[in-house]
Amino acid sequence: MTHTPFPAATIVGYPRVGRFRELKKAQEAFWKGKITQDELRQAAADVQRTYYDRVIERGLSATDSSIPATFSYYDQVLDAVRLFTLVPKRLADAKDARGLLDLPGYFALARGTETLPPLEMTKWFDTNYHYLVPEIGPDTEITLNLEAIDEQLEVAKEHGVTVRPQLVGPLTLLLGAKAEQGSPEGFTPLDRLDDFVKAYQQVLAELAARGVQWVQLDEPGLTVDRDIPNAKIAELARKTYSALAAETNRPAILVTSPYGNLRENLPALLDTGIEALHLDLVSTLYNAEALTAFKDSGVTLVAGAINGRNIWRADLRALLHALQNINGGAVAVASSTSLQHVPHDLDLEDPADVPVDGLAFADQKVAEIVTLARGLADGESAVEAELKTADEALARFTADPRKHNAAIRERAASVKPQDFERPELKIRRDAQADLNLPKLPTTTIGSFPQTGDIRRHRAEARAGKITQQQLDEFLREEIASVIKLQEDLGLDVLVHGEAERNDMVQYFAENFDGFATTKHGWVQSYGSRCTRPSVLFGDVKRSGEGLRGEAVTVPWISYAQSLTDRPVKGMLTGPVTILAWSFVRDDQPREETANQVALALADEIADLEEAGIRIIQVDEPALRELLPLRRDEQPAYLAWSVNAFRLATSAVEDKTQVHTHLCYSEFNEIIDSINALNADVTSIEAARSHMELLADIPESYVSGLGPGVWDIHSPRVPSQAEVEELIRAAIGYGTISDLWVNPDCGLKTRDYEETKRTLKNVVAAAKKVRASL
Ligand code: GLN
Ligand code: ZN
Repeated sequence: MTHTPFPAATIVGYPRVGRFRELKKAQEAFWKGKITQDELRQAAADVQRTYYDRVIERGLSATDSSIPATFSYYDQVLDAVRLFTLVPKRLADAKDARGLLDLPGYFALARGTETLPPLEMTKWFDTNYHYLVPEIGPDTEITLNLEAIDEQLEVAKEHGVTVRPQLVGPLTLLLGAKAEQGSPEGFTPLDRLDDFVKAYQQVLAELAARGVQWVQLDEPGLTVDRDIPNAKIAELARKTYSALAAETNRPAILVTSPYGNLRENLPALLDTGIEALHLDLVSTLYNAEALTAFKDSGVTLVAGAINGRNIWRADLRALLHALQNINGGAVAVASSTSLQHVPHDLDLEDPADVPVDGLAFADQKVAEIVTLARGLADGESAVEAELKTADEALARFTADPRKHNAAIRERAASVKPQDFERPELKIRRDAQADLNLPKLPTTTIGSFPQTGDIRRHRAEARAGKITQQQLDEFLREEIASVIKLQEDLGLDVLVHGEAERNDMVQYFAENFDGFATTKHGWVQSYGSRCTRPSVLFGDVKRSGEGLRGEAVTVPWISYAQSLTDRPVKGMLTGPVTILAWSFVRDDQPREETANQVALALADEIADLEEAGIRIIQVDEPALRELLPLRRDEQPAYLAWSVNAFRLATSAVEDKTQVHTHLCYSEFNEIIDSINALNADVTSIEAARSHMELLADIPESYVSGLGPGVWDIHSPRVPSQAEVEELIRAAIGYGTISDLWVNPDCGLKTRDYEETKRTLKNVVAAAKKVRASL
């Protein structure tokens, strides 16, 4: 089959929830039974049409396959599960009468139903997006179902747009899947590669039959270090794509490789007969020979030059020069990754709130790509006006005084090695002995249920319907009731409940200089869940007068402490997590930014100490999340991230007990770095995996450890006996001399009913085990 040439400008993907989160609203209404499936489809079609209109307005062509059919009702990996009907046996009821996944069945796998648990969810490479993990066994049947693709093709066609279907590629699908329960020992989904190659061949034939010119197969899975040697993976990549390319009846194939470097996979893929290959030129460096190899192979190099993961305006002139220097034959311009990681449109933001000169969201990035492609085709002078506009805006942004606070920079530059050190643990322990904590002390992770009432009050204050004073009064009552509840339950170390916080990062962003927060800067985290990352663009300190600024959390925590004789933990978000969940300036090393944030937190900690707070928790749930995919890049990351935490927490007095908290990941791999944080006590998610983590705790780990005994992600109330068993299991490992008892994570998503019942069981279990010691 002959096909059209690859377009000069394209994107790897686009945000899918809609500029005003229309998809989220429609999904949630559908799940609640408030709208019909047909109405949900209409809403989805609207989101797609708006997407097409907006990227076409910015210069992508409606007719040359430059626009990917990137829409998803929930998740792109789950779309592949639906396409091939990959339903594990235990979830067979999710299939409809035809034996396929219709839309409700698809959602059932994503979210679970009363009778079916959902598929597991995990992080999509080193991003903040989460995908649903397919489960594949030796005899998982593959049945094609192109309904979802057809739906998108039809919307596009009616709208006059020639789209490029976008699918997760076979290797990424299998490498990202897990073996179905009950599979024989040693089986991995990759063992089914031959079957999947056949299935993808059929999909390609089906697409060709529908007149599709180009198809996009996303293979970020080829950029990650794994236990399987890279050379072996490269061999599989060669085999797979040679087989797909050998099909006579198929669209032209674009393979994308966002998030990292293809390494051995690059020459392998160039050798297969695919028509175009996308490289992420932002997150990694490719040498000139690697790019020149494209020329000899005849494969179109799709240069992922515009950063799909951050929101900074590109230096277009510099990028154009770099692109002009690539000796790669046919070069197209693209985003480095899908734009699903950035918000839709900067024009929705108020320039008074965000530094628009320095920013580009998805729509603005499309325009940047189009400019670069035109410049590449027609020369720099053809796009001089656009380049000049970009130069000027960037110059203004670069000169923004908020990026150049001499006092902050001097302070961050003059940190000394001793600023990262505390005296040895033994000395700290002695100084903290007067806390008089029992063995197996009980505590929680910080937040208590965020009730509708709490959210309503915060929203009303934001809208000016109640005064700040009224809100504060309400929050104090909330704190008083949370303290009373914890005393009644008999917990040993209390928290104030975090009712004043909308989000653990945004709360600090709003109270620190150097950050901006957006109104519509939503980014999909998974399904209908979106977050609004803060924009960390300037030098950081606490807001208010002087270099140290003003205290943020102290009034709340000290009020809570005034109500009780038991210790109340001060609660802060750590520097690494603040960076991980913000868009972080890229005009200086991350380490420098992290240290500025750490120093602002150190100021807050000093003020908490001065207010008499003896225990301070600095949460780092995202510590694992930023870990680079490439092993050779991991030590540098772990060094600066551990250092930032230590800089924030090391200036304390010996008698102050520093806690940290980690969750959302498996931490076994970075256990040494957790130890290096040098906290007095670490709470960590462990209930779901039944304390497995403890097997990997080295003997050198001597500080306190609170492996979670309550999986707060599940609405189940664990019994006292279950909690006891977990505590005894933890003790059974024998490595932890200072064991704490706490839930896996904060309680903000739980309700009071289950919280009370569970915490009662937790305290009773701890007391029982304590008595038996
Ligand atoms: N202190 C936070 C809370 O309890 C921690 C949340 C988290 O780890 N994600 O909500
Ligand atoms: Zn947590």
